[in-house]
Amino acid sequence: MRRLPKKQAIFLPDEWNIIEDGFHPEKNFMLETIFTVANGYLGLRGNLDEDFPDKSQSFKATYINGFYEEYDITYPEGGYGFAKRGEAMVNVADVKTFEIMIEGEKFNLFSGKIYKHIRKLDMKSGTVVREILWESERGRKIYISFERLACFKRQHLGAINIRIKLLNFSGRIKIVSKIDGNSSNLLETEDVRVGSGIEKFPFETIKAYCNKLNGFLMQKTKKSILSYGCMVDHVLSIKEFFCKSFADKEKNLVIFEIEFDAKQDMEYSLTKYFSYFTQRDVEEDLIEEHCAAEILEAKKIGFNNLLKEQREFLETFWENADVVVKGDPKIQQAIRFSLFSLLQSTGRNGISNIAAKGLTGEGYGGHYFWDSEIYIMPFFIYTQPEIAKMLLLYRYNILDAARKRARELHHRGALYPWRTIAGKECSAYFPAGTAQYHINADIVYAIKKYFEATDDLEFIKNYGAEIVFEVARFYAELGHFSEAKDGKFCIFCVTGPDEYTALVDNNAYTNYMVKMTLEFATNLYTLLKEKDSDAFEKLCRKIELSQNEVLLWKNIADNMYLPYNPELKIIPQDDSFIYKKRLDLSKIPENQFPLLLNWHYLDIYRYQVCKQPDVLLLIYLLRENFSFEDLKNNYEYYEPITTHDSSLSPAIFSILAAELGYLDKAYEYFVYTARMDLDDLNDNTKDGIHAACMGGAWQALVFGFGGMRTNKGVLSFAPKLPERLEYLSFKVRYKGKVLKVEITKSIASYTLLDGESIQLSHHGSSFELKRGQTKEFILVN
Ligand code: BGC
Repeated sequence: MRRLPKKQAIFLPDEWNIIEDGFHPEKNFMLETIFTVANGYLGLRGNLDEDFPDKSQSFKATYINGFYEEYDITYPEGGYGFAKRGEAMVNVADVKTFEIMIEGEKFNLFSGKIYKHIRKLDMKSGTVVREILWESERGRKIYISFERLACFKRQHLGAINIRIKLLNFSGRIKIVSKIDGNSSNLLETEDVRVGSGIEKFPFETIKAYCNKLNGFLMQKTKKSILSYGCMVDHVLSIKEFFCKSFADKEKNLVIFEIEFDAKQDMEYSLTKYFSYFTQRDVEEDLIEEHCAAEILEAKKIGFNNLLKEQREFLETFWENADVVVKGDPKIQQAIRFSLFSLLQSTGRNGISNIAAKGLTGEGYGGHYFWDSEIYIMPFFIYTQPEIAKMLLLYRYNILDAARKRARELHHRGALYPWRTIAGKECSAYFPAGTAQYHINADIVYAIKKYFEATDDLEFIKNYGAEIVFEVARFYAELGHFSEAKDGKFCIFCVTGPDEYTALVDNNAYTNYMVKMTLEFATNLYTLLKEKDSDAFEKLCRKIELSQNEVLLWKNIADNMYLPYNPELKIIPQDDSFIYKKRLDLSKIPENQFPLLLNWHYLDIYRYQVCKQPDVLLLIYLLRENFSFEDLKNNYEYYEPITTHDSSLSPAIFSILAAELGYLDKAYEYFVYTARMDLDDLNDNTKDGIHAACMGGAWQALVFGFGGMRTNKGVLSFAPKLPERLEYLSFKVRYKGKVLKVEITKSIASYTLLDGESIQLSHHGSSFELKRGQTKEFILVN
């Protein structure tokens, strides 16, 4: 078994804040990720306000969720159907870097003396604040603070407030503020998981102007041909100042030079408001107008009221979503950081989703994966289903692209891309990309869980059913009834979730999830017919769906080949997996992990070795299909050969270990999951957060230690706390009801906060709760 690495954090163990005390330039790269502020649309990477001189340790970025440039994927040895054009989240104009001159001396933490430097991400206020006491080389002492936010309530808006006080002199202050349209993405890097194929400078600047403190820049991407605009404005706390501004379209710049005389011990402030809109949000010729309206409104409201709005938004968020843990403040901090980061990362407009690295960095090109549906959506489904709905709506909005991809591969129905932004398959390595056909079923799984938890028939009628039917149709063509397997329906040449095994026959995860899809499709067909015959007829006509086709789905579901090995008493990951040599992970030096960076895939594919759970994930997701013995046997079989080279891995092990009663182990996996980014456990937080892992942290607490399951539409719990946790509480929204669960070592209590009544189960015994009622159960160890 592989021992998971451990590391020391630099952050103080604060339950609501991430605090960097002191200046840590050696950690700059990863700190830029951690101190990102984002609102699901706009992402401002946590670059230093005054810039970071060593460009090899910094990446300056601003992202707009779902705004992308295309690039050609070239293969010296290409092939039919290979992804040919990729999409990558493009780094847009920077507005958050300032040059600050104090009596001609540049404010720069690499010169002079730092008396105090504190940077804080406050998860209640949704801001990053830096407070600095600094003395220049010539002995001028200043206090300066920067406060940054991306407004949750106004997704196109952000603001930065700078406050300066001269402490031992009076003098002239000059602040140079910009819209710098010279951003570019990281191109090739040594890590295959980072770097996009986008051109060095992917834009054409089509407009740049300024008018005193206000300015606008508009750029168009060269390949995806999408425009975006960025407008800024500045408000100063004093009337007497001098401002010289100029715009240079050729240089892609709008610059403001603001100067004023400052008196010792007086505080001066400057607020910069900025707004971004893209052609994916509004018509191209309306972009400028929308930016201007947003800026005007922001100036009217003022910075302090924007802060107030931000707090109010977050109050509601935490009210619904907070998870309280007692026992270790570092864990409380980490879980809140995870939930906060998920909120920051999540598109809520139906045309964007959750990139694997959120809006924080360059990893994975800003692509959306199955991470959203399987790892992150449960958090939203059970705490804020309206957000889950927007995420599913995104999948509906790329359904046509998925249909096109299915046609390209000579199938009917729809095939969702393994990684994408606007719908195109962007994976250039098909064995671990397109071949992961399970992505289709993962989306269906999320729709099923969303529907179970909300009874949102409108969504199913208008969007959900169409996705499910098209996916079912695709799967019916993907496999066939094979005589060699007693006439069972087999699916050949696919890749399951574990990317250390590829292009295999009868991957258990895929076969089971396809069965689930076909059963759900069949049930939805009947349900829709019953509930709304007009909508049913309309949909069947639209996609030419007949009763016969649905009968075929049922037949396939009933006759799906479901691998099982009676000697080993396990589910083999695929037809050939158990015949390969088991890799002894304890013999592999730690510096060889992750294997994908040090071993050729062909080498890896030859062994029984897993990057992440496959069969075990299946057992977790379709828990009602398997016995406790199945869980135990498979856990024992697969755990020793799992490298956890994917950050998606440990959370699932934690959940299953908790059910098996291996609580210490479950806690260890959970801590690794929860602290992944704050402790930079995989050494790659610099490239962005691990969003799926964060969703996994929530699942590990709620489904793991809380033991929550939603099988057959009933909420059940089987709580067990590990030694190191004293208390756990969370809320769950289910079928319009709100339940609060509190767990200590000796008692579990359930309170129905909203809704008439709810049927629950605690460690197998059912009970009913009425509105406002609490029921307690003694926990025996
Ligand atoms: C994992 C995939 C995941 C992707 C993006 C890979 O390392 O193996 O399962 O979807 O990262 O997070």
